[in-house]
Amino acid sequence: MRVLFDSSIRVDPLPPLRQDLACDVAIVGAGISGLSLAYELASRGRKVTVLEAEHAGFGASGRNGGILFPAPGLVWRIRGALGHSDATWAFEALRSRCGELVHDLGALEGGPTQASMYLAAPGRVAERALPWVARSLSDARRCSSEELAAHTGQKARGGIVFSAHVVDPKRLTRSLLARAQAAGATVHENTPVVDVSESSSGALVTALGHRVRARDVVVASGAWASRRSFQTWMLSSPTLPESTLAMLGPSIVATAERSFTYRRVYDGRLLFGAFDDPVTVPLNHVPADVGARLTRLLHRSIPDLPTFEPECVWGGAIHSQGHEFPSVRRESPHVVRLGAIAGIYWALMGARFAHGLLEPSDETPEDARLRQCVAATRVPVFGALTLVLRLMLGPWGGDLT
Ligand SMILES: Cc1cc2nc3c(=O)[nH]c(=O)nc-3n(C[C@H](O)[C@H](O)[C@H](O)COP(=O)(O)OP(=O)(O)OC[C@H]3O[C@@H](n4cnc5c(N)ncnc54)[C@H](O)[C@@H]3O)c2cc1C
Repeated sequence: MRVLFDSSIRVDPLPPLRQDLACDVAIVGAGISGLSLAYELASRGRKVTVLEAEHAGFGASGRNGGILFPAPGLVWRIRGALGHSDATWAFEALRSRCGELVHDLGALEGGPTQASMYLAAPGRVAERALPWVARSLSDARRCSSEELAAHTGQKARGGIVFSAHVVDPKRLTRSLLARAQAAGATVHENTPVVDVSESSSGALVTALGHRVRARDVVVASGAWASRRSFQTWMLSSPTLPESTLAMLGPSIVATAERSFTYRRVYDGRLLFGAFDDPVTVPLNHVPADVGARLTRLLHRSIPDLPTFEPECVWGGAIHSQGHEFPSVRRESPHVVRLGAIAGIYWALMGARFAHGLLEPSDETPEDARLRQCVAATRVPVFGALTLVLRLMLGPWGGDLT
């Protein structure tokens, strides 16, 4: 599968696991979740080994749209589960952690650049929901249907615009890898883990016929571990004229009940993505009709866009499998599962929460409270996100299905 982000980066593979090892924490999967956690732990002196089936960033982390979007739906759920004051506190805490993460990522190659994000309200329900969303997002303001049309080509009753960030996912993942390694973590690529089990004093991970003995194991294998997944597919246009790109900033716009689209400009091209139903396709396989379906959807949402053949189409699964919050949880005394269902932001936050679970003495009281608030919602993050979008946006247009 050709992924646009791949083109500029060539790296030598890291050596696979070739012998039995012992460490404090073994991490399965070198995506954003696994690598961020590896960095957090290694930089506090823990001996960390990361085992990656393919190469760092092979999964969703290296092929995503790179749009940082902290799901506001979560706060709504916290309010339902815990009441108004915890929800307000949790929301502010999440917002400030998001700011810290963005600042921290700024030190990395592929770190965030600022962008305006437009959210369209195609229907009446969506229009009514927008003030709530606007209140939940920092720097959000309402925008008129004219402004929305001018910036997104989108016909809608109105919308909101807010300040967001975009990253280059491939560069970001490689940078996280370099950071984890510099902190002392060992990463083995081409090392598929086939078994994780408990032992009397910890856990045992088996890969390539070797064993890694660890006090704790964190499974951060992302979507690929899932039997039932949401898919999201993206296409890249060929290089487009500056004048066309100028009107195509990043945006998240409604498509239909279960779905939404997202787009951004990258390297002189328009990247456009949409969600698909929970279907399972083989790893690294793009169904033949996805390009045509995405193109139709794109031209329906931006009718004035000149027609083109996509330069490439790619995508992958987003973990679902009905995993509930806590997306970070102890499965057994020595095994923690870290599932970053709802995007880059949650992959980064999840690593922090996992660190808190593994090393409670390192966790600040605020982070512990936040982790507990998030855990208390006990809803799938992805479900929360889509629920909010559905309520906000209502049926409109068509999705990929
Ligand atoms: C096309 C697409 C677009 C997206 N766009 C956005 C976006 O714009 N904004 C956003 O916030 N989010 C987006 N996402 C979601 C986001 O990319 C993911 O939520 C996030 O990257 C998950 O990170 P992760 O580290 O948990 O999982 P992954 O990145 O999937 O990493 C898991 C790693 O584990 C490895 N692995 C799996 N099984 C094993 C095994 N048995 N042994 C060893 N290693 C194993 C895999 O090879 C992989 O490298 C998008 C996702 C896709 C697919």
